Amino acid sequence: MSNSDLLQRSLNAVWHPCTQMQQHAAAADALPMVPIARGAGVWLYDFDGRRYLDGISSWWVNLFGHCHPRINAALREQLEELEHVILAGFTHRPVIELSERLSALTDGALGHCFYASDGASATEIALKMSFHSWQNRGRTDKQEFLCLAGSYHGETVGALAVTDVALFKDAYAALIRPACTVPTPDARLAEAGETAVDVARRAAAALERHLEGHHQRIAALIVEPLIQCASGMAMYDPEYLRLARALCDRYEVHLICDEIAVGCGRTGTFFAHEQAGIRPDFLCLSKGISGGYLPLSIVMTTAAVYADFYDPATSRGFLHSHSYTGNALACRAALATLDIFADDQVIDANRILAEHLGNCLRPLATHPQVRHLRQRGMIAAFDVVSDDPQFSQRFYRQALAHEILLRPIGNTVYFMPPYAISAAECEFLVTRATAALDAALHT
Ligand SMILES: *Cc1c(COP(=O)(O)O)cnc(C)c1O
Repeated sequence: MSNSDLLQRSLNAVWHPCTQMQQHAAAADALPMVPIARGAGVWLYDFDGRRYLDGISSWWVNLFGHCHPRINAALREQLEELEHVILAGFTHRPVIELSERLSALTDGALGHCFYASDGASATEIALKMSFHSWQNRGRTDKQEFLCLAGSYHGETVGALAVTDVALFKDAYAALIRPACTVPTPDARLAEAGETAVDVARRAAAALERHLEGHHQRIAALIVEPLIQCASGMAMYDPEYLRLARALCDRYEVHLICDEIAVGCGRTGTFFAHEQAGIRPDFLCLSKGISGGYLPLSIVMTTAAVYADFYDPATSRGFLHSHSYTGNALACRAALATLDIFADDQVIDANRILAEHLGNCLRPLATHPQVRHLRQRGMIAAFDVVSDDPQFSQRFYRQALAHEILLRPIGNTVYFMPPYAISAAECEFLVTRATAALDAALHT
């Protein structure tokens, strides 16, 4: 089997995500379609024997590399016991253990775990739970949500309501009941003399003005803690989360932390919100939680929210469900993932790795067309000065030609490699990315 057999069959039969399929049409400058035969560690191998360093963890899901022996072994073991069972009226060991261990990671603050299969569903569950819990308390006016400018919380119709990315949202505007958008604390918005903390305070002041006027109608504020990933790796100071938490308390509004992308050690702590010393009312997890193996998402919440639903009346319960809720294999992959975090002291090891990645990237800070080189933990990014509307695709193609997988968001090039990347592979990734950048800018 070769790349060319498979790519034509894929283009005929598979409708690929986040893609204008016509851009794959056969032509010299067509977007390449890469059939992957196998993966090992940070590497992906195609059917023609070429390799690619997975610099974006396959859309931010893969934590410890592809085909990890310990996760593979855990899944093989689970396959022999139980693949899946209905979670209404039934339960199983992996889902119980995972819920207990995640709860312990929040020191018990978020002691109730609700399960689904993808990130957008987790967003919708958190929104529905927040709204319904206020309804159950008799606060029937609380029907609105707040999100940040540039937020991304998924692409189902409900999740798009709290997503502020025009490219994904505008075509469906007629279907959406949009949330209200408040200013982002994105540190790049600093004016002369302002620090990241100043920007965070300015954004929090705007949030306060909005809550002052509208809090009776607002159920929850939803945020991506520390980094707004999908709109271009907008990083902000933890001060914003501290102030937002205090404001949500003062105005009786739930705080939803969507850690689908930034959770699981990405930003340097297991949960990103830990860096602000706060806890949310709802925490959404997905992507990395299964190590990048199986679709799984979790909404964790407090005893107070749980109590709002605990009642003799069925209709006051949270009746939401998905067929694969709490899938045993996915939960087992998540348990294996948590084992690796504990056994290998991944958070500590990542501190050293992140520093190395930062050192590799430093020379780019003086590149004439690079702005806002930034990093938090195992996510790094920079913005490219270029008015070429094709920059992102050009860079992506050049990156593949240089054996690396990187997909810029507009003019933002970012790195989100698996934690299994070695120091030498970090150097390879950045050296090749720099070469791909120069090639993309000069073609
Ligand atoms: C990816 C992502 C989602 C959506 O998750 P899906 O599994 O793609 O539906 C939601 N929120 C954030 C912050 C994400 O990065």
